Amino acid sequence: MLLVDEAAKFQKELLLFKVDFEKAYDSLDWGYLDAVMGRMSFPFLWTKWIKECVCSATASVLVNGSPTDEFPLERGLRQGDPLSPFMFLLAAEGLNVLMKAMVESNVFTGYTIGTENLLSISHLQFADDTLLLGVKSWANVRALRAVLVLFELMSGLKVNFHKSMLVGVNISDSWLSEAASVLRCRVGKVPFLYLGLPIGGDPSRLGIWEPVVARIKQRLSGWKSRFLSFGGRLILLKWQWKPNLDGGYSVRGAYQLLTSQQPVALDVAEELIWHKQVPLKVSIFAWRLLRDRLPTKANLVARGIITPEFHLCVSGCGGVESAQHLFLSCTVFGSLWSLVRSWIGFSSADSHHLSDHFVQFTYSFDGLRTRRSFSQLIWLACVWVIWTERNQRLFRNSKCSLPQLLDKVKQFSYLWLKTTNCNLVSNYHSWWSSPYTCLGIV
Ligand SMILES: [Zn+2]
Repeated sequence: MLLVDEAAKFQKELLLFKVDFEKAYDSLDWGYLDAVMGRMSFPFLWTKWIKECVCSATASVLVNGSPTDEFPLERGLRQGDPLSPFMFLLAAEGLNVLMKAMVESNVFTGYTIGTENLLSISHLQFADDTLLLGVKSWANVRALRAVLVLFELMSGLKVNFHKSMLVGVNISDSWLSEAASVLRCRVGKVPFLYLGLPIGGDPSRLGIWEPVVARIKQRLSGWKSRFLSFGGRLILLKWQWKPNLDGGYSVRGAYQLLTSQQPVALDVAEELIWHKQVPLKVSIFAWRLLRDRLPTKANLVARGIITPEFHLCVSGCGGVESAQHLFLSCTVFGSLWSLVRSWIGFSSADSHHLSDHFVQFTYSFDGLRTRRSFSQLIWLACVWVIWTERNQRLFRNSKCSLPQLLDKVKQFSYLWLKTTNCNLVSNYHSWWSSPYTCLGIV
């Protein structure tokens, strides 16, 4: 690994702690897993499915050779369940967050790479292969012990200190063994294995490649390598090195999600994006919209992908294209809402906040569930039409008028609803003028 080489080359002190989790998959606490998924803002429905898959495990034991009745398990992931490694990955995010918090509050000092563009690394993690890294200090040793005990209390994942090891680069053996006795772990030597790959050591020596060759052999013999390919692991190691610029699924992103408080309306709105008559791609689009994850120009500028002079709204209104602007306050696209409202015949207060807008639009009908479900679907159709129109204008150089956009909202909602509503099929024309009569909700 580059990091160990770098420390050796520049004679910097590097302290590595390779964590061994005890029976990694057996002791994971489901309540904790549920809390992590909640804080990482996974959609409610998705979390529910996962819980049903993970928490429905039953077992029976053999007593004198005959199986007992099945009984439900209360914790742990099933070995061999294809979901388990992914669940473990979620659980491990908690350790990431703890390590980040320790670094940010200056309790733990990560290892700094490079001399110019400094990048500080405090942990590398994949499933149950976890590596914590920092500078040589007693404060770091104490922080490591604390963070692991804390993580164990939270998650139920026990750290096997006897099997874990402390490795030092440019650190004296005496200091290392003293630190190892504080951590009650053993002292390891480079090279050691991380993700099945040797870390540190001289690559020109034949011996160092033995585990790699063994691993490839193992993989070729019956494709036994389980959850991730060898190449995948290499890529993963590289990926972990790069600071994340695109706001993708990263340690930093997860940490921000876990630590930032979302407004209440977002929770309500996020349940509204799932509608059984709306195509999944539209719901996923709406999820990204409410999270402000769409590649709007304002977001592209913030990520350094385009320069600020290209941030203007494609409608020519003169505003900056943020999600809020494009879907609500734009004088061009935003006026689609009033057209839609006059079609479905109600008026509602216009919130300038996207999730509030969604919630208000959906609930502006009193009482009737079918009406609410209808306005919910119309809102989703409307934002979908605005986004596709924006992309048409931007990338295809073609343009629809506002009345044409309204027609599209009518078309989409008709298409989405007609598969489940027989009345609608025979009422194509009256849908245009009077949707409620067609739905039978007047
Ligand atoms: Zn605009």
